[in-house]
Amino acid sequence: MLVILAGVAGAGKDTIAKAIIQRMENVISIPSFTSRAPRADDVPGVSYNFVTKEQFEQMIAAGELYEYDVHHENYYGTSRKLLNERIQSGKIIIKDIDVNGTEALVDLLKEDTKVVTIFLRVPKEELEERLKNRIDHLSPKEIQLRLNRFDYEESKIGIYDYVIKNDNLEKTLSIIQTIIEKEYELYKTK
Ligand code: 5GP
Repeated sequence: MLVILAGVAGAGKDTIAKAIIQRMENVISIPSFTSRAPRADDVPGVSYNFVTKEQFEQMIAAGELYEYDVHHENYYGTSRKLLNERIQSGKIIIKDIDVNGTEALVDLLKEDTKVVTIFLRVPKEELEERLKNRIDHLSPKEIQLRLNRFDYEESKIGIYDYVIKNDNLEKTLSIIQTIIEKEYELYKTK
């Protein structure tokens, strides 16, 4: 089973995915591939696999990605091999991704495994504050690029199974944990 956690950068996807993995023993993550530079809190191979633009373009040409997208002038994508391996392990995989990637993955994987999609919402004003206060210190240009994406991501909210307003981390975590438990039970009993 694959759980997709989407929402704009700054919505809290990363924090939530990490906390869910810590709390639920059968949930694991999967690193995406990206051409962006690692940030201080990135652990290569865990948050992302870091490659050059040229290496990423070779992966696209070789058909190694289920989907990819360009954000903030960098490539991001999901490796076919890695995702298939993790799905076959029988664990629940939680993946932080954007709306385009969500649509692509739901289409590609719905015949093979259960895909549960969750969109995390934050008001635009609060998002701006969060982006300014991020520990990895985004530049004004980087903040603007992320804010520009807000309306687009919000316009796609209808494709998600669940939409959660992330205004309280503990509450959001407990809702997501319940969703995953219930969806997994349904998936297992089918
Ligand atoms: P960041 O650079 O802040 O870590 O991520 C930027 C954006 O890329 C986030 O919205 C994140 O969800 C998205 N992203 C991360 N991995 C993937 C992926 O594999 N595919 C797609 N399409 N987007 C991704």
